[in-house]
Amino acid sequence: MKIAIEGCAHGELERIYDTIEGIEKERNIKIDLLLCCGDFQSTRNVTDLQTMAVPRKYMDMCTFYKYYSGERLAPILTIFIGGNHEASNYLQELPYGGWVAPNIYYLGYAGVVNVNGIRIAGISGIYKGHDFLRGHHEFPPYTEQTCRSVYHVRQLEVFRLQQLSGKVDIFMSHDWPRGIQEYGNKAQLLRFKPHFAEDIGSGQLGSRPLEELLKVVQPTYWFAAHLHCKFAALVQHKKNARRNEYADEDSASSDSELEEHDNGDSLETHTPAVTKFLALDKCLPKRRFLQVLDMPTREEETTQLKLEYDLEWLTILYTTNHLISVKDYNYYLPGKKAGSMEERCNFTPTTEELSHISNKFSNLEVPLNFCRTASTFDPVEQQNFKHLYVEQPKAQLNPQCTEFCALLGIDDPLCLAMLANGKQLPQTFSFKQSPAKINTPNTTVVESTEPVAVLATSKRKLNLMLPALKVSELEKNVIELPVEQEADEKPSIVPVTQDAKEEIAPICVSPNLKKLKRRNQSIYQSEDNGEII
Ligand code: 5GP
Ligand code: MN
Repeated sequence: MKIAIEGCAHGELERIYDTIEGIEKERNIKIDLLLCCGDFQSTRNVTDLQTMAVPRKYMDMCTFYKYYSGERLAPILTIFIGGNHEASNYLQELPYGGWVAPNIYYLGYAGVVNVNGIRIAGISGIYKGHDFLRGHHEFPPYTEQTCRSVYHVRQLEVFRLQQLSGKVDIFMSHDWPRGIQEYGNKAQLLRFKPHFAEDIGSGQLGSRPLEELLKVVQPTYWFAAHLHCKFAALVQHKKNARRNEYADEDSASSDSELEEHDNGDSLETHTPAVTKFLALDKCLPKRRFLQVLDMPTREEETTQLKLEYDLEWLTILYTTNHLISVKDYNYYLPGKKAGSMEERCNFTPTTEELSHISNKFSNLEVPLNFCRTASTFDPVEQQNFKHLYVEQPKAQLNPQCTEFCALLGIDDPLCLAMLANGKQLPQTFSFKQSPAKINTPNTTVVESTEPVAVLATSKRKLNLMLPALKVSELEKNVIELPVEQEADEKPSIVPVTQDAKEEIAPICVSPNLKKLKRRNQSIYQSEDNGEII
């Protein structure tokens, strides 16, 4: 399978697809898949632009909106992660991933999918230490602060990715893993980017959690962007990759610690693996922003591309749902250093857990359920948009996420953040499915017609405990959702009131019970009534 990799897209989708078409013609090949490593800028309209962290003069609509409106169709399946210049309100609608336009799939805060058997994992955002241990507390309209913090990587996503046990073929990130420059031609890098020297000297170039993930996940390929240059490296891994040891900022494990704690329990034994790292530039003329790679697929070569959820990843999302926080202060995930021994800290799925999740899905194919939740930019009517004052958008829920959460039995962090802050949930939309299908060489997508707002009539199921006040807020603005019933699930031991017990079904399949340590209780405590969320 031929895969094109793009560094920072910066909204230049038309130019990227044109470049791919040029390569195809020049080399007489067919490119099957495009991977974009962040700064994708999926702005649908002028309102979305207000959520992008960028100085006003650089606020440009670029070309994504044409793919959103249907004016143009992405010619190949495109998978992307988020960076630090995004339509954050739109990406927040799809925390677990989804279609942002026909044939253009966002991986979510973090995600794992399989394309014809090639396993692709990724994480969105950039690393900033001061936000890493916080919950996903942001929602639109953003403040000056949350407009930036919304794209900062959180420990939960890193923790979840650390639980993967199967081989990952491709890993995508926006910033680079810290220290990666040591595995490539550092002298050349510094000739091109001399100002990196200072950051390298102080260990600040690149992301610390990504450095940990690289050691643990050991993917065959790792693609990144953000530093606006092409850089290749080859990482020979040590034999044993350890999981579940990412404790906090100040205690990232050193190699000697890894050996010291090596008791065999939480170790995945790998044959020493090699990761081929490649960072690419941003999409600008004469810059090295695109690379084509030929990758053998595990499945039979076929012209039909199949995008599938990853069962292990779905299971991890499910068994770690109780670890979501939407608080804007630090909290701690279970780990040997932070937690009690009874608390589960290894979420690498068991066979039973995998089969429990497998039973929820008739098949793992990602549904072609793209739908529009916003209007599209009009270049004629709105050509002077830079000179106009435009308000920040309100939060919007996306039916793709609603469906996914209901099917898997997990929570939408955007809903939780709003409810925890006493906000009403926005109305969701229903869509009349158009029978018209757009056939692309690789996939078939069903296009929706314009959304029809519906007043919902029953309650959204929440899996995490929320304070009673906010649950009752929810009742005022309820949303229709298929509510799954699971007889085999055990209740969480997190204390809740009787009211809340009636509202909320528990989440666990196996002994995945959250015990809060004393120091963590205050973090989960609601100010209103002392209940634990
Ligand atoms: P963006 O397009 O995300 O706004 O900015 C990326 C730019 O910031 C690139 O030119 C990149 O070289 C620079 N940059 C990003 N992170 C770092 C860093 O950690 N250290 C240095 N020296 N430059 C950085
Ligand atoms: Mn960037």
